[in-house]
Amino acid sequence: MPPEAAPLPLVAAEEDVRLIVAERFGIEQPTFQGEGPSCGHPALFIRLSRCNLTCTRCDTKETWDWSQFDPRKESTSHTVADLLAWATSSPVELVVITGGEPLIQQRKLIPLVQGLLAAGKRVEFETNGTLAPLPELVVYGVQFNVSPKLDSFGVAEEKSIRPAALQAFAASGRAVFKFVASSVSDLDRIAELVSAYDLVPVWVMPEGATPEAVIATTRVLADAVAAHRWHLTTRLHVLAFPDPRGR
Ligand code: SF4
Repeated sequence: MPPEAAPLPLVAAEEDVRLIVAERFGIEQPTFQGEGPSCGHPALFIRLSRCNLTCTRCDTKETWDWSQFDPRKESTSHTVADLLAWATSSPVELVVITGGEPLIQQRKLIPLVQGLLAAGKRVEFETNGTLAPLPELVVYGVQFNVSPKLDSFGVAEEKSIRPAALQAFAASGRAVFKFVASSVSDLDRIAELVSAYDLVPVWVMPEGATPEAVIATTRVLADAVAAHRWHLTTRLHVLAFPDPRGR
């Protein structure tokens, strides 16, 4: 890390802080960041349980949909010290903290992020953009991949589009905005949001749970994304692995 990224003091004893975790992976079976600016980069993943939205097209419902899943089976409590020991046992530099919605637990994430940065890691949050990040998380070495959810993703935008939170991310200098899209009309709505809240840079990711669906949607969207001068990403884990869960 460059000189200005000196290790930060911990804000709480790591042993005392516990996070609700759905899964962690990337060590026993090495994998990649599958989406966004770091797509293809080796990565470790810590998937936190719980979400504050209920998108019908969600592909991680095991983190929140207790009508289908049992929270006692789908989540475990880990100390920050345990998660730090796990992550730092790997030479992989990038740690992706995802969910669910990881920022629900963001105060407890401060010592984890500080410990990861002190160990020479960098951190990417995958967040739905509804909760403004605490200042302690908006630091060198942290990036927020903010993915506001559209009506077409099966959630009411009155719940998923939170102007104050989006403005906080836009002002942070540490956010990229990654929209899931399934049609060209989704791009029109994305353009409205980008204009309303000054969301840059923009990445568009095709929706799809199978390689065939990802490729087909990519072909539907590619020309229009290029015309907007936005970035286009894929879902590498869907293309690369027969069973993307835990990859
Ligand atoms: S915000 Fe993300 S994790 Fe939460 S319900 Fe929507 S798609 Fe699922």
